[in-house]
Amino acid sequence: QQQAAESLYILNQFAQRYFSRVLKEDEEGQAVGMSYLEERGFNPAILEKFQIGYCKEDRKAFVTEALREQYNPELLVKSGLAAVRNDDLVDNYRGRIIFPVHNTNGKVLGFGARIIRKNDKAPKYINTPENEIYLKSRILYGMYFARQSVDKLDECLLVEGYTDVVSLHQAGIENVVASGGTSLTTDQIRLVRKYTDNLTIIYDGDAAGIKAALRGLDMALEEGLNVKLVLIPDKEDPDSYVNKVGAAAFRDFVSGNKKDFILFQLEVALKDAGNDSIKKATVVNQIAETLSRINKAEDFTRQQDYIRQCAGLLQIDEAGLIHLVNKFIR
Ligand code: ATP
Ligand code: MN
Ligand code: MN
Ligand code: MN
Repeated sequence: QQQAAESLYILNQFAQRYFSRVLKEDEEGQAVGMSYLEERGFNPAILEKFQIGYCKEDRKAFVTEALREQYNPELLVKSGLAAVRNDDLVDNYRGRIIFPVHNTNGKVLGFGARIIRKNDKAPKYINTPENEIYLKSRILYGMYFARQSVDKLDECLLVEGYTDVVSLHQAGIENVVASGGTSLTTDQIRLVRKYTDNLTIIYDGDAAGIKAALRGLDMALEEGLNVKLVLIPDKEDPDSYVNKVGAAAFRDFVSGNKKDFILFQLEVALKDAGNDSIKKATVVNQIAETLSRINKAEDFTRQQDYIRQCAGLLQIDEAGLIHLVNKFIR
């Protein structure tokens, strides 16, 4: 187990260096990979910092190098860098931009690989499969590069994707990590809590983004995080939006549009319920359950504040809401 983990770290470091070199020095790396990244507005310094690379379109350019260096074929498959096709070992990330995923000490746990040439069949991203060191539910992309800034600013921004993290760094916003588009796990929340209690979720303003954000809420509350939400307008994500409006306007947008997560959830639900009294009763119950999750002794005042504000929004009696909240506390 320990042995396997160590071998994977070594292989991943070798692969990361190989893909970075291909991006910078190889003809195809420059013509295809670098051109694509430049077109998207990434500068060389940020690509260097995040150790971004490129995997050639060739069937097995990387595999050939790795085998020459005596890396074990089974390890290559386990790492996700290679796949078996017709009894042959081939590159798994052919023709893709490579985003190394680091642990908080900067060791490479795995990779996210983004397709360049659009193709209906192939997925946009391929991620490393679960193995001894790549444990998806414990990883937040970018934490290695964010943690100092998170610590200093006492706030962690959470975005969906790799390119969101890299673009925000380039814009000078460094306290940012990505969840990979899935809802947060307890382990990921605990990782954030090592550095701060303040989490700001910056997701796409579309329905899917809102839904994904809401899914992370209950768990984050139970773990004692203060959660704020910023929704990026229209069809943008943080990467496209910061490229569109620039760093300063992006910062202003974020600071001017932070919503308290619980109150936001209530607003959305109330708008949805309209004048329907049965729907409204359901909303009251839901918000009571959410508020009951702030059940840590240290958060008592916070819970009281929320109850007051929510009762106001709901236009119901505060004492009644307190009673309901207490019913949900186990
Ligand atoms: P780009 O800007 O390059 O299009 P993105 O990060 O905006 O990338 P989204 O479609 O918004 O891409 O997805 C958000 C994140 O979800 C991705 O960064 C990636 O981590 C993950 N993801 C997206 N598509 C897939 C997929 N097909 N398989 C696995 N993970 C994916
Ligand atoms: Mn999205
Ligand atoms: Mn996106
Ligand atoms: Mn994007």
